[in-house]
Amino acid sequence: VNVDAKLGLDKFYVDEENAHIVLKKDIDSKEYHKLMLACPAGLYKQDDKGGIHFDYAGCLECGTCRVLCGTTLLEKWEFPVGTLGIEFRWG
Ligand code: SF4
Repeated sequence: VNVDAKLGLDKFYVDEENAHIVLKKDIDSKEYHKLMLACPAGLYKQDDKGGIHFDYAGCLECGTCRVLCGTTLLEKWEFPVGTLGIEFRWG
């Protein structure tokens, strides 16, 4: 099964004005590494200089990051409001 192809079937209605997941300011890199490994959408990234990059737009709303690091790294984790967020398509 090609996971990327499956994910490509899904549709995202992104709330551009209200991020449903927000990282805290001071990030422990060891903790952050857990998110890099665990997020099934690969949204937690780090560049060569150690800078962290997170984009909530491709979130699958699985809650893995919330369970792993919700109290240590995340300022906010909510489901997107109303009809926004992911629309799963099983194709
Ligand atoms: Fe990644 Fe799931 Fe967290 Fe969304 S909820 S950022 S897909 S781990």
